[in-house]
Amino acid sequence: MPTVYVCLWFDTEDFIAPIADDAARDVAQVMTGEGVPGTFKLVGEKARSLERRDRWDAISALGRHDIGYHTNYHSIHPTITEYVRGLGWDEGASEFERREESGLRDLERIFCTEISCYGQPGGAWAPQAFPALKKWGLIYVDEGDNIGFREEPFWYCNTLTVFRLHWNCHRADLWGSDAEYGSSLERFDEIYNRLSRTGGLISIFYHPTEFVHAEFWDCVNYRHGINIDPKDWKMPRQRSEDEARTGYERFRHYLRHILSKPEAQVVTAAELPDLYPDLAAGHLFTAADIAAISRQCPSGIRELEAGPGFLSPAEQFALLSGFLRQRGVGSVSLRQPLGPKERILTTRLPLEVSIEAFMDAAGRAEQCLELAGHLPDQVAMAGTSVAPAEMMLGMAQVCEALIHTGQLPGEITLRPADFQMESYAEDSDHLWDWMIFAEDFTAPRVVELTRLQTWTLKPARLAL
Ligand SMILES: [Zn+2]
Repeated sequence: MPTVYVCLWFDTEDFIAPIADDAARDVAQVMTGEGVPGTFKLVGEKARSLERRDRWDAISALGRHDIGYHTNYHSIHPTITEYVRGLGWDEGASEFERREESGLRDLERIFCTEISCYGQPGGAWAPQAFPALKKWGLIYVDEGDNIGFREEPFWYCNTLTVFRLHWNCHRADLWGSDAEYGSSLERFDEIYNRLSRTGGLISIFYHPTEFVHAEFWDCVNYRHGINIDPKDWKMPRQRSEDEARTGYERFRHYLRHILSKPEAQVVTAAELPDLYPDLAAGHLFTAADIAAISRQCPSGIRELEAGPGFLSPAEQFALLSGFLRQRGVGSVSLRQPLGPKERILTTRLPLEVSIEAFMDAAGRAEQCLELAGHLPDQVAMAGTSVAPAEMMLGMAQVCEALIHTGQLPGEITLRPADFQMESYAEDSDHLWDWMIFAEDFTAPRVVELTRLQTWTLKPARLAL
């Protein structure tokens, strides 16, 4: 029977209420007591406040588990999306790194450990976070609607990403009625039974502060774009002692329920990279693989299973480009560029170009891959500019000719390409209805950049 992996993660963020420090300690101790490893994603300011308040009991209880990162200041404005929303790709990526790195280093210092993963605060998604995460060696673990791939982990911007697991995401209703708690366990069983046929991952998340509070610390202090001076902090409404006790009892029972499933295995975020290796990375791709990419392109540019794993469209683009650079001779090693940074449409189509003009343009696209590590936004050719999707379709034509005839074709005709990955990124106003954002907040540029980077999207396959 395939294994059903279960990852429990806890956004540990409330740096306002000291009682939330107790909750972080107590949740970690319940996990330890049941022998269940968890991933506690801490906010930098939370870790520093534990240190300032001398809460070494909480730090040592949390430190028995996997530690992830949950931004430097969480809901203090500007939040992540707020500070990148007006920025382009490079500027946003630099700003994220500049503001967030010190919190990560504080976690490493306070917990004396490597940090495994990152997840955004609330709805504060930003694709510009990914270059820094890759550099820091963190995977993405969170839940939201901005992007997803068939309710399973996926690769995005060359980072393993657990996001929008949706039907495979579960939370037992620890504070509802007995009937509600019971039916939430039935829903866990449904997920478990479904995934035990194929193998897969169940994502479970809580916030330690929820175990002692009936409302969120940030909703009472940082709601709708407002910042508040720490001396004016309001404490969130606490749960009654009975309610809190029931929550902990049910949590323990929930853990035992998970452990009672014969094929369930609890894993931390730190273990996920070994469970979901990128088998395509480092692989050499043959002419037969290039032919498979070239054949798929006319029916739509999308992920492709080739060689030992999956290829994103950006990886396929780089393989075609490498094959052309080698004039169809030998195998091509995989490169993993980012997607384009701007959307520029090809306006003159169909476009007939000589092979000399096309290969010259392909050489410049190749330079962009090699020197900048991303797909070009556009490639100048025959007095116009060609977007990456049409360029890729043209490269596929030339690669096919090289494979079948050993020769470059005389001229090629560029036609509209069908890039099919953008539908995996959602574009809707409800993405921004997190209570911390201003009521009319939107971030169209963030959505646009998220969509452009779907060039890097591909499924993550569970290791056998
Ligand atoms: Zn959070």
